[in-house]
Amino acid sequence: MATLPIVQYEEKILETVEANPVVVVIGETGSGKSTQLSQMLLRRGFSKIAVTQPRRVAAVTVARRVAQELDVRLGEEVGYAIRFEDRTSPTTRIKYLTDGVLLRESLANPELNEYDVIILDEAHERSLNTDILMGLMKRLVKLRSSNLKVLITSATLDGDKVSKFFADCPVLSIPGKLYPVEILYSKERPPNYLESCLKTALDIHTREPEGDILIFMTGQDDIEKLVSKLEDKVRALEEGSCMDAIIFPLHGSLPPELQVRVFSPPPPNCRRIIVATNIAETSLTVDGVVYVIDSGYVKQRQYNPSSGMYSLDVVQISKVQANQRAGRAGRTRPGKCYRLYPSRLFQDEFLDVTVPEIQRSSLAGSVLYLKSLDLPDIDILKFDFLDPPSSESLQDALKQLYLIDAIDENGAITSIGRKMAELPLEPSLSRTLIEANNYGCITEALTVAAMLSAETALLPGQRQSKIEKKRKHPMPNLPDGSGLGDHIQLLQIYECWDRNDYDIGWCKDNGLQVRGMLFVRDVRKQLSQIMQKIAKGPLDIRAHGNGDEFRRDYRNLRKALCVGYANQLAERKMHHNGYRTLNFQAQVVQVHPSSVLTADDLGKFPDYVVYHELVATPKPFMRNVCSVDMRWTTTVMNKLKTLDVYKLSGGINHAEEESERSLPDLPKKDVQVAGAVNDSESRIQAARERFLARKANK
Ligand code: ADP
Ligand code: MG
Repeated sequence: MATLPIVQYEEKILETVEANPVVVVIGETGSGKSTQLSQMLLRRGFSKIAVTQPRRVAAVTVARRVAQELDVRLGEEVGYAIRFEDRTSPTTRIKYLTDGVLLRESLANPELNEYDVIILDEAHERSLNTDILMGLMKRLVKLRSSNLKVLITSATLDGDKVSKFFADCPVLSIPGKLYPVEILYSKERPPNYLESCLKTALDIHTREPEGDILIFMTGQDDIEKLVSKLEDKVRALEEGSCMDAIIFPLHGSLPPELQVRVFSPPPPNCRRIIVATNIAETSLTVDGVVYVIDSGYVKQRQYNPSSGMYSLDVVQISKVQANQRAGRAGRTRPGKCYRLYPSRLFQDEFLDVTVPEIQRSSLAGSVLYLKSLDLPDIDILKFDFLDPPSSESLQDALKQLYLIDAIDENGAITSIGRKMAELPLEPSLSRTLIEANNYGCITEALTVAAMLSAETALLPGQRQSKIEKKRKHPMPNLPDGSGLGDHIQLLQIYECWDRNDYDIGWCKDNGLQVRGMLFVRDVRKQLSQIMQKIAKGPLDIRAHGNGDEFRRDYRNLRKALCVGYANQLAERKMHHNGYRTLNFQAQVVQVHPSSVLTADDLGKFPDYVVYHELVATPKPFMRNVCSVDMRWTTTVMNKLKTLDVYKLSGGINHAEEESERSLPDLPKKDVQVAGAVNDSESRIQAARERFLARKANK
């Protein structure tokens, strides 16, 4: 441990930090940035150090490791905080936290006075939240020049660019001790990358000298498939023909006790094969790796602001990523990296660097956050970003926020928006909670929000496809949402558990993950506390299912959802079970097959629904859908009609801009928006008539 490269530079690092408010530290992955820098600063006498991580797993794992190195109990001197889980105490002096949690802390305490050092770690990941933090830090070091130190650390970051951003701050490069890595390219892309990974791993295992193998895959699903295939194949090898092997998965949704296994030393004469997502690229370092198999792919979530749609795409990695992956093979001795793609492809097609998250995310949450900071010198559209997002995605965010009443027509944050920003939820769910508190259904809304926030941890079976099947055909005793949709089903499941006194056996009997359900219960409690603070008084909380009048059809809850999901509303196409979204760019979408929303006796789906998410997988689907009533949509329809995105942007002088409005480069979209609105107006009218006609028939 004493030989970690960064430790040899302790004096130099501390001197530079003493002399400068901001320092960029660049060092090879595994050189000790995440685990050692904080300890050095503590030794030097700094009193409280925050270290941000873009990934939850990294925050937890690194904190655990540092606590171990310092021989203290996790949660005392060394702790961590991730969304919905705070393991720190008043004695905590080194705090690992996700970048999102630090942003949230700065809402309550804009100057972050608690800390005298803030380390933005893994900055090369360019996560949306770290990018925003960089902008905020720039401001904060001016405000707190005498008593705040900021360190930005990264494995591969373009140091000069960050240095320029922070008024030419010093960049310390820690020379890494990297052994040569031989790169072996495939002749062509394999038709099946999973099979190709399998074959390459077995070849290495049976032919190459000792040393662990690290395989980069795209996601949990493929990882599990490969792990199980590898296990079969290794078991089938003739005994004594080669050394033993153990196989580990490594990804973000692995339960903590399985995550730590990969860090414990392997038994003698045994090769480890680690099958990982890009989490092992730079966030976590496993010692002993000599062989790397690089599939060349990564799974990336992308948001398209012109359609409001998310897609989870498997995309080619960037050159920087490929080189990071290769580097993992040369940490302890010379290694080999097997790239399952030709060198021509790497040279000609791979992007040089990864596209920062800020340029491929929905910005509604971030824009609301920045607006709620209320800083006089922060204008959203001019916020100082290392790489600015497109104006299209900023406008998309503003429109969304306007529709859910978080900002007014001039772009100013509203009191509702302020409350929403305090909730660690997506804007749609925050808005739903606030509305639900007015409708006497906060008890139910809290449950829905908590269930949706923990959804992936809820249902058994690791694979998405299995989860989806379970959802559609829940265990026979689980409720089905009464035909009203997925939100209602999630609520009903939790209510059942509540009626069974939160019995763990009940979860098991019904095929629900105990850990997930306990997490939901905890999240629900935390949300309820925040809501009480926001509502400045006790909430109208009653026991679950306590016979209020709306229960028959969950009317009030669905009404609250309709307000929260104002931007996620869809209308059934006439004579069809397809839907058309009613936001700015009308899209034709389907209810996801996993949904429990059902058609009526005539085979007809509800006329109006809200959805939690639009996914392109690859057809456009609405995931987590709930039926709503047309009459509840009037307010938002009117807002859509009057929306003026120029005013929303705020800070723009209308008179001055007026002449520009006819210029061709101003969003053509708005022309379409106007069209869509008129169109939706007539559609509303038609729907209203249908509705009245049906009502008269009854
Ligand atoms: P960096 O942040 O520069 O990539 P880290 O500080 O995360 O490096 O890790 C430094 C070294 O500490 C790694 O090379 C690894 O050997 C060791 N290490 C880190 N975390 C753990 C852990 N949880 N268990 C065992 N060793 C660890
Ligand atoms: Mg690190």
